[in-house]
Amino acid sequence: MIPERVTVALRGLDGPVCAYVYDPGVLRARVAELRRALPGVTVCYAVKANGHPAIVAAAAEACDGLEVASGGELALAEAAGAARIVFGGPAKTEAELAHALRLGATVNVESTLELRRLSLLAQRAGTTAAITLRVNRADAGLPGTHAMTGAPTPFGVDEAQLPEAVALARSLPGLDLSGWHLHAVSNNLDAAAHSAFLAEALRWSAETSRRLGVPLRTVNAGGGFGVDYAGNAVFALDELRVRVPDGVELVVEPGRWLAADTGWYAAEVLDLKRTHGRWFAVLRGGTHHFRLPAAWGYDHPFTVLPMQRWDWPWPRPEVAGVAVDAVGELCTPRDVLCRGQRVDRLRVGDLLVFGRTGAYGWDISHHAFLRHPEPDFLVL
Ligand SMILES: *Cc1c(COP(=O)(O)O)cnc(C)c1O
Repeated sequence: MIPERVTVALRGLDGPVCAYVYDPGVLRARVAELRRALPGVTVCYAVKANGHPAIVAAAAEACDGLEVASGGELALAEAAGAARIVFGGPAKTEAELAHALRLGATVNVESTLELRRLSLLAQRAGTTAAITLRVNRADAGLPGTHAMTGAPTPFGVDEAQLPEAVALARSLPGLDLSGWHLHAVSNNLDAAAHSAFLAEALRWSAETSRRLGVPLRTVNAGGGFGVDYAGNAVFALDELRVRVPDGVELVVEPGRWLAADTGWYAAEVLDLKRTHGRWFAVLRGGTHHFRLPAAWGYDHPFTVLPMQRWDWPWPRPEVAGVAVDAVGELCTPRDVLCRGQRVDRLRVGDLLVFGRTGAYGWDISHHAFLRHPEPDFLVL
């Protein structure tokens, strides 16, 4: 179902329609839900899920802070007036680190070389860098896609090298190490498993801090709360239960779960055709605007939004009661958003509206490929 406010916004556009509709109010409501489920836990929004200024502004206001992973996102967070900034990512440049220091961001340090760089920059700036160390733990198994820890990845410091990294952090001037950053996975739909992961992250952090002599103040458990795009599974917030020890701040950094339902991607059907037994709805739009289904290899469901306008002097092409493939305007057979979805009725000029496209939609897509015009962006 598409909310009325979204269909009204889309019907107001000139054709051929191609647009993202964003509703920052949905993000604010999500943050409130999360706060009820995890009282006392610090919530930072992971900007990379959706860096549209209206979404970032809403997140800056509703959350405790913003998690950024590039210089560009750092600038977005600064412009949004974020109360707190957490800066991660394995490839930070000198300029980006210096910018983070000027903003007083907490830096999630990903390597020993980065410790050295940051220490020197902090000394030059006459300041102290607030840091956590990102750890690639030996075993932090969680279901979900994109495992980033417990396996060889470019993220964080290998748990086996942690004593050495901590010794270095303590020997270098200008660094204030407050704890650990343990972001491990994306799109985990199993909230009970996530709850166990949070508890284990707290237990591991306390134990490791004791062992390495780091007074523990911060445990950043990252993001990873899941969204079911093709089905109806939900991340059951009421299964999250954590007991955070006194004096420790638990930080979570969800992106996908906070932003997915803030967005709808709509594209007009420019043509309907049948080849070798399959129906294709050819769209003004495609995977260069919404790459997620192509990147992950799933079918993203859509809703047909009928449009009345038909200005041509011949009968309007239509299909009824058939399965169609929703394909884009790119010259590649991989430009597919959804295969084989049944439609009751679909006409050229109608819109296909893809819900749950507010996270990792526009932001991960290859916009320049073929140089088609960009979609409109409507903010409710
Ligand atoms: C991407 C990312 C997040 C957000 O992940 P989601 O799966 O969108 O919740 C949080 N923290 C870090 C360090 C990340 O890289």
